[in-house]
Amino acid sequence: MPTAHIALGSNLGDRRATLASALAALAATPGIRVTAVSPVFETAPVGPPGQDDYLNAVAVLETDLLPHALLDTCLAIERAHGRVRSERWGPRTLDLDLLTYGATQLHDDRLTLPHPHMAERAFVMIPFAAVSPGHIMPDGRTAATTAASLDSTGVNPRADLALA
Ligand code: ATP
Ligand code: CA
Ligand code: CA
Repeated sequence: MPTAHIALGSNLGDRRATLASALAALAATPGIRVTAVSPVFETAPVGPPGQDDYLNAVAVLETDLLPHALLDTCLAIERAHGRVRSERWGPRTLDLDLLTYGATQLHDDRLTLPHPHMAERAFVMIPFAAVSPGHIMPDGRTAATTAASLDSTGVNPRADLALA
């Protein structure tokens, strides 16, 4: 079964409860097995000013869902957690981004893989590197090297909020 990585983020409401519930929903989906979950990080928001801090984590899955079915699963779980799409990069109860799906590279109107911005985002790469340090990125570097090259300011571990 292909290995996939999903980024979880929340900056509205009970953030930890939302991430825990989203993870449980992924794990309960037929065709998905959650094999690892990163530590939780509290991170300064990117985008429109005045937003609250995020909680971010990365989950590792084994799945026999195809990429678009996995995306649809993520979008349905977002909706079930009250995600309302308003302004771009605005506050949200839950954001689930499909980061990787095996070695698949694809780009269509619904899905780009690997996620096009993951390598430049410390709030994604620091948790990613915690669970899959040796993952090879599209440029040939490891996830650990990529994470270490980013500015980690504003990405703070919250061991007290661990999901697993
Ligand atoms: P960003 O993708 O820059 O993190 P965002 O998460 O705020 O931004 P959303 O509004 O959550 O963006 O998603 C918009 C659309 O992006 C989704 O409806 C989905 O079709 C599309 N999309 C493309 N590639 C991916 C991916 N790898 N993971 C999740 N959504 C994706
Ligand atoms: Ca996102
Ligand atoms: Ca998203």
